[in-house]
Amino acid sequence: MNQHLQELKKMERELKLLGGTAALLHWDRSTMIPKKAVPQRAEQLSYLSSLIHDKLTSPHLKKTIKALGAVTPKLSLIDRRIVQEYQKNLHKIEKIPKSHVEAFSKLEIESAHAWEIAREKKQFSHFAPYLEKVLAMKLKEARFVDPKKHPYNVLLDDFEEGMTFEKLDPVFEKLKTGLIEIITTIKKSAQYKQQKDVLASVSFPVDAQKKVAADIKNRILQAPDRHTDAESVHPFTTRISDDDVRITTAYREGQPLFSFTSTVHESGHALYELGFSPQLRGTTLCDAPSFGLHESQSRLWENQIVKSREFWKFYYPYYITMFPALKKISLEQFYSLVNQVRPSLVRIECDEVTYCLHIVIRYELEKSLLEGKLKVKDLPQAWNEKYKQYLGVTPKNDVQGVLQDMHWSEGLFGYFPTYAIGTMYSAMIFRQLQQDHPAVLKEISHGDFTTVRRWLKEKIHRHGSMYLSEEIITKACRKNLTPDDFIDYLKNKYYSLYGIKQ
Ligand SMILES: [Zn+2]
Repeated sequence: MNQHLQELKKMERELKLLGGTAALLHWDRSTMIPKKAVPQRAEQLSYLSSLIHDKLTSPHLKKTIKALGAVTPKLSLIDRRIVQEYQKNLHKIEKIPKSHVEAFSKLEIESAHAWEIAREKKQFSHFAPYLEKVLAMKLKEARFVDPKKHPYNVLLDDFEEGMTFEKLDPVFEKLKTGLIEIITTIKKSAQYKQQKDVLASVSFPVDAQKKVAADIKNRILQAPDRHTDAESVHPFTTRISDDDVRITTAYREGQPLFSFTSTVHESGHALYELGFSPQLRGTTLCDAPSFGLHESQSRLWENQIVKSREFWKFYYPYYITMFPALKKISLEQFYSLVNQVRPSLVRIECDEVTYCLHIVIRYELEKSLLEGKLKVKDLPQAWNEKYKQYLGVTPKNDVQGVLQDMHWSEGLFGYFPTYAIGTMYSAMIFRQLQQDHPAVLKEISHGDFTTVRRWLKEKIHRHGSMYLSEEIITKACRKNLTPDDFIDYLKNKYYSLYGIKQ
C-alpha cells in the first residue's frame, strides 16, 4: 500500500476512535448521567472535540492528503472517495480562520442560552440581537468558504452536498402548491369537520408503551447484538462504532403515539447506520452522504410503513392486547385516527400532510434572512403571516411561533430543507419499492419486512457515502428529486380517508 495512504488510514482510525468515544460520552450525557456530573462532562467533551479538531487540521494530515492528491487515479475506488472526502473537508477548514471558529462556538452557547430565556419570557425580542450576530457570522463563514457562491448554497452544502437553492426552489414551490391544495380540500370535507381526537381520552400506560416500542424496534432492526436503546428528552440515534448503534425514545402518558412513531423514526435511522457495506467499515464513508437521505430512511418507516392500513391490519390485534381500552375502537377507526390531519402551529407534533409546509415556511424565511431581504426584527411577523397564509393558523405567542425550533440559534441555516427532501425521497423510494416488488404491501400486512429491508440495504444503505444522495436516489428510483410521488401518495391515501372523490 502507498505509504501516504497507510498514514491516512492510521489517522482515520484515530479520528474514528475519538469520534466514537465522544459519541458515547454524548449518549451517556443525554440518557443517564447523574445531574452533578454535567459540568465535568462538558469539559470532557470539549477536550475530545479540540483533540479531534487538532487532528483534522494537523500539518501532517494536510501534507498526507496533498501528497495523495497526486496519485489519486491509481487508488481503488473506495480509497479515492476517502481521499476526496478529506480533501473537501480540508479545503473548508483551511478557508475558515481559527479565530472565526472560536468566536462562533462562544456565540453559539450565548445564543442558545438567549433562545431559552426568550422562550421562558415568550419574547422573541430577547433573542433577536443574538440571532443577528449568528446570521452575520454565518454569512461571513459562507464568504470565507467561497465568496463567489450564493451564501445559502454554501451553508446548504454542509447538510445536503450538491444541493442548491436553484434546484430546490421549483421543487418546493410545487410541493407547497400541492400541499395547500390537499389541505384545503381535506378541510372542506364532512369527515374533517366532524373529526374528534378520540385517542386523547384513551389510557396508554407508559409500561405498555415501552413494551410496544421494544417490540416494533426489534421487528425493524432484527440485529439484537448490534444496537441498544434508552430514554432521553429528545429522541435521537447515534453511532458509537460499526457494531454499536443506539437510539433513544421519550414516553408521554397523554400522547401514546409519540413514543411509537418516534421509536419507529429512530429505528429507521438506526437500520441505515447498521446497513453500510462491510468494505466501508472503519472508514469515513461509513456514513450517509446527506441529512436528507438519512431522513428519508426514518420517514419511510414512520409514515409510509407504520401509518399504512396494511401495517395496522397486522399490528392492531397485538396493539389492543397492550392497550385494552382500544377494544371499543375498530381497526378502520384506529387507522383513520392515526392519520388525522390537523393544521397546527408546532412542527414536531404535526401530521404527515402538513409537515412539509412547516419546512417550506422555514426555508423561505431563512433564505430571505441570508439574502438580506428580511430583517431579523421583522421575522416574527413574517413567520405569523406565512402560517396564516399556508396553514390557516396563527400563533398566540412567539414560543408557539418563531421560537419553537432551536436550529437558528445554533446557526443551522440550510438544515431545515433536509427534512422535506427526506420526506420527498421517502415517497419516491416507497413507490419504486412497490414497483420492483408488487407484493410488498401484502407482506407488510403479514408483519414481514424482509423485502423492505433487503431492498433498502441493496439500493441505499450499503453505499454509505460512496456517492452523493442525488446519485444514489437517481439510480434507485430512476429520477431526480421530485415532489410528485409524495403529492400522489398523499392524495391517494388522504382523499380516500376523508371520503373525497378525485
Ligand atoms: Zn430524523
